[in-house]
Amino acid sequence: MERKNRITGRFAPSPSGRMHMGNLWSCLLAWLSARSAGGRMVLRLEDLDPDRCCQKYCDQVMRDLEWLGLDWDNEPVYQSRRTEFYAEAFRELERQGLIYPCFCTRAERMAASAPHRSDGTAVYDGRCRRLAPDQRDTLAKTRRPAWRVRVPESGISFTDLLQGEFSEHLAQDCGDFILRRSDGVYAYQLAVVVDDACMGVTQVVRGSDLLSSTPRQLWLQERLGLPHPQYGHLPLLLAPDGRRLAKRDRDLELGQLQAQYTAPEIVGRLAFAAHLIDCPRAVTPQELLPLFSWEKLPRGDLTWM
Ligand code: GLU
Repeated sequence: MERKNRITGRFAPSPSGRMHMGNLWSCLLAWLSARSAGGRMVLRLEDLDPDRCCQKYCDQVMRDLEWLGLDWDNEPVYQSRRTEFYAEAFRELERQGLIYPCFCTRAERMAASAPHRSDGTAVYDGRCRRLAPDQRDTLAKTRRPAWRVRVPESGISFTDLLQGEFSEHLAQDCGDFILRRSDGVYAYQLAVVVDDACMGVTQVVRGSDLLSSTPRQLWLQERLGLPHPQYGHLPLLLAPDGRRLAKRDRDLELGQLQAQYTAPEIVGRLAFAAHLIDCPRAVTPQELLPLFSWEKLPRGDLTWM
């Protein structure tokens, strides 16, 4: 019984370069949340994009997690090796009549879109959904389409562990979204729901930049008959000048930070930012286990010092 209710958390880094403070922040808190409850932790390398990811970065991500003192159970899962599972889920959505080809170029997509309510990304107006079969055939002679999923005219709500109630009207706030790119690569939104289910993930802890992806993922889970994990979206860690952390902020990349700090010093700074300790002292993830609780975590974005 106890085993059955055990939390399975996950690390899901995108290995397109060295990890930065923002990735470490999510990884540390995901690990603390699962392990402090006696749960399991699995690792998935989100290396779907062959242009941006390579084995060297995957190896580096694993070394970096280990260096920090974060461990995981089972063999790591590589998304680049799981295409057949995404293809199966895609076919299932196709069987449900939800998939259509989109021939819009990037410029046409921008023109056919309005800004997303909560994160500023584009809401596609669904113009390719209305193409007649002969129009599709004509366009297919010169263009390779991307594949979109038709979203419903309804709201999806969930209760986030940290952000509370969150809801979105998929058609209005998000629009039909791409599940497979024109070069054949399956989209993150599809891969993530297939993999979270396959890997038995019951708790997803990640940055609040992904909060607005969650209604899409919950809806795909429903369509595919997959269970819903619990979600906790963390406040973002911002650069000292208030910028969002990105891979280009080399100063906050682990490679640079390692020259300045030991692993327990970095963990201590993150734990201090998470309100788990009252000053930024050196501490190991293991030592933080008894101190972790969701109630202590701050809700607003934080600045890394
Ligand atoms: N791979 C994503 C990232 O590194 C995280 C995806 C997720 O947690 O669902 O930002």
